[in-house]
Amino acid sequence: MSHTSSLGINAFMAELKAKNPAEPEFHQAVHEVVESLDEFLDENPKYKHARILERIVEPERIIMFRVPWINDKGEMCVNRGYRIEMNSAIGPYKGGLRFHPTVNLGILKFLAFEQVFKNSLTTLPMGGGKGGSDFDPKGKSDNEVMRFCQSFMTELYRHIGPNTDVPAGDIGVGGREIGFLYGQFKRIKNEFTGVLTGKGLNYGGSLIRPEATGYGNVYFAQEMLKTRNETFKNKTVLISGSGNVAQFSVEKVNDLGGKVVTLSDSNGYIFDPDGIDGDKLKYVMYLKNVKRGRIKEYAEKFGVKYVENERPWKEKGEIALPSATQNEINEIEAITLVQNGCYCVSEGANMPSTPEAIHTFIEKGILFGPGKAANAGGVAVSGLEMTQNSMRLNWTREEVDNRLQIIMQNIHHTCSEYGKKDSGFINYVDGANIGGFVKVADAMLSQGAV
Ligand code: NAP
Repeated sequence: MSHTSSLGINAFMAELKAKNPAEPEFHQAVHEVVESLDEFLDENPKYKHARILERIVEPERIIMFRVPWINDKGEMCVNRGYRIEMNSAIGPYKGGLRFHPTVNLGILKFLAFEQVFKNSLTTLPMGGGKGGSDFDPKGKSDNEVMRFCQSFMTELYRHIGPNTDVPAGDIGVGGREIGFLYGQFKRIKNEFTGVLTGKGLNYGGSLIRPEATGYGNVYFAQEMLKTRNETFKNKTVLISGSGNVAQFSVEKVNDLGGKVVTLSDSNGYIFDPDGIDGDKLKYVMYLKNVKRGRIKEYAEKFGVKYVENERPWKEKGEIALPSATQNEINEIEAITLVQNGCYCVSEGANMPSTPEAIHTFIEKGILFGPGKAANAGGVAVSGLEMTQNSMRLNWTREEVDNRLQIIMQNIHHTCSEYGKKDSGFINYVDGANIGGFVKVADAMLSQGAV
């Protein structure tokens, strides 16, 4: 990167920070993208002249609203709801809803920003958005979650639609929440449309949608491993999180002959040296999805190690699939992983590695798949759910899984095309950022001052 361009990046970031104060995750996500794009924009001045970068970091629209609801004790509670409609250049806004106490405007803006590039990489016609609330579903009854979802949708419904904005799930929003949200939308609008994805199979959902992010991440890692003539067979795999993405990553790694030895939640991690096999995974699914318990209970049930308030990155494994949340691998953890023999990191979560951790992975020349490419399988199958809803028919499991595999292979191909360095090393971060940018930027150029 030339000295002049670093000055350019610094000035751009200074202005962005001044305009969007106290949003460190948003700054982090934008900084990563502008670093990747710097040289590319110098070589392609049409994007600079049209000020695409300045426009692409500015959400088209932000909706913030009050969500009042009554808990089981009859008390009034209030949360804040959000929807960030980031970019609709290539299709309706599309991206998940996150319900977690840490949710704030900056976190949702980072997620919405990344979503624009991710959706573009899938090659499906989807713009980028994200939303959610600081509501914490943990410890709430089903009735409380339902009342919250109904109140949330009572405001959100007027801003979304199958051709406008199509939300899905994310942290804290799974099948139960999507069902409550969809029911309320349908009731208010009196129409049955594909306005949300991640729906249940009996009311318009797609086969493989629950599996898609975890499976897709493993498919992406498989493609990266192929470039070094490697596979998952007999590899030890470290996974963080124990929710939707983590669970189906374990399932697919097992299918491919690998052994997953860790899972975690926000209280700690478990280490099972024998591997989390199919039966143990069934227990995890029951524990997290039905009992809504903590991962600690796995250690108690199977008599394995539980480490409180730690993340699993000190354990040994060739492959790591961070699948919990943002900034969950720092520089020291990245160094430890590499020193312990890890040579492939594929991000199931969004932005789980800090910039310093990413720098370490790239400097050490390991296979590093950034979330906006590696975890795009979820939104890709959401796109396929929208297609099936429009056609009013359902594809088989095999058909959706085949399409998912092809999409992940194509994303890998795009990242390789834009990220291959003269040395032959593939910088998947640059590849995903440039590859995702081009389609959106060209659409914005065609559409004029939008
Ligand atoms: P989920 O089912 O709600 O599971 C989230 C998991 O991450 C839980 O084990 C949770 O533990 C843990 N976690 C959440 N916040 C945490 C924090 N601040 N510190 C430590 N652990 C935390 O959510 P998910 O759908 O699997 O999403 C996981 C990641 O994948 C997120 O980054 C999400 O944005 C990304 N992603 C999801 C999809 C999708 O289709 N679902 C698609 C693309 C990307 P607790 O139970 O203790 O909170």
